[in-house]
Amino acid sequence: MSAKLINGKEIREDILEELGRETLALKEKTGKVPGLVTILVGENPASISYVTSKIKTAKSLGFKEVQDTQSIDISEVDLLSLVDKYNHDDTINGILVQLPLPSHIDEKKVLNAIDPDKDVDGFHPVNVGRLMIGGDEVKFPPCTPAGIMELIVRAGVETEGAEAVVVGRSNIVGKPIANMLVQKGPGANATVTIVHTRTKNLADHCRRADILVVAAGVPDLVKPEWIKPGACVIDVGVNRVGEKISEKTGRKIALLKGDVDFDKAKEIAGFITPVPGGVGPMTITMLMRNTLNSFKYSNNIPV
Ligand code: NAP
Repeated sequence: MSAKLINGKEIREDILEELGRETLALKEKTGKVPGLVTILVGENPASISYVTSKIKTAKSLGFKEVQDTQSIDISEVDLLSLVDKYNHDDTINGILVQLPLPSHIDEKKVLNAIDPDKDVDGFHPVNVGRLMIGGDEVKFPPCTPAGIMELIVRAGVETEGAEAVVVGRSNIVGKPIANMLVQKGPGANATVTIVHTRTKNLADHCRRADILVVAAGVPDLVKPEWIKPGACVIDVGVNRVGEKISEKTGRKIALLKGDVDFDKAKEIAGFITPVPGGVGPMTITMLMRNTLNSFKYSNNIPV
């Protein structure tokens, strides 16, 4: 393998340790800890698993964590007043509503009801606008793109003047990561192209990339011959392509593949993220960082 592997699991552990230490110091200074509430509606197994991981990580850092589980039948009005209750709860710094919500509830209405100063997912239009402006305006960068930036910077990848190509234009990954890479400032200053299903000559765009971020959700979409030698390849895709037996537990687990042909790409790229173990571990980590920062903003502590 010629590429340097960007190990998201190791970087996650480093960041969580930093956040844990900071939480303890803040507790000693203020007598308070950051608070995160996750609101779960119904019993979707995937949602339960995501919420459990978030709560477990928050607990391990010493945060106050509340898992508020509501019946699948909760009305939109009642869910909105629950969000409002947490908007006014001074012990809660981050509010997260786990998606998807049942079809009788307007997801957009609920997400937009979260106080933008507690919107640690960074999906509220106010926070999307702040991200677009950049610099000091940014309070809560959305978690997956923030994790990608952290991987790029901690791996020592040069972004200044780099040609960055982002495959995918979703609101949660493609558009925000393109926006973050193009900002003026250290760890950014890239020249960014976004490509999608209507782009002509996808391969030609990818071949130009010094930094290639792929978030399409299509296994092996990016072929090894599309990768510029020495490029930094960030594979966001998580595609279930079958099942395998876990060596640890002996139980069946999902076999995951990214959007890039990893085995061949790693021989050409300069840096590469694996799937799993690359971008994936960073998302919850960045959620924790946003929650800690929210606590600091509300206590007038510099971030
Ligand atoms: P999405 O909303 O489905 O967006 C996919 C984007 O890729 C769209 O903009 C689509 O273009 C583009 N695309 C799809 N096929 C393409 C092709 N053949 N050529 C060029 N562009 C193509 O997906 P998402 O939510 O951004 O997620 C993308 C992937 O990242 C998924 O595998 C998801 O599971 C994974 N993901 C991982 C994490 C994590 O690790 N923490 C977090 C979020 C997402 P159009 O707009 O033209 O349709």
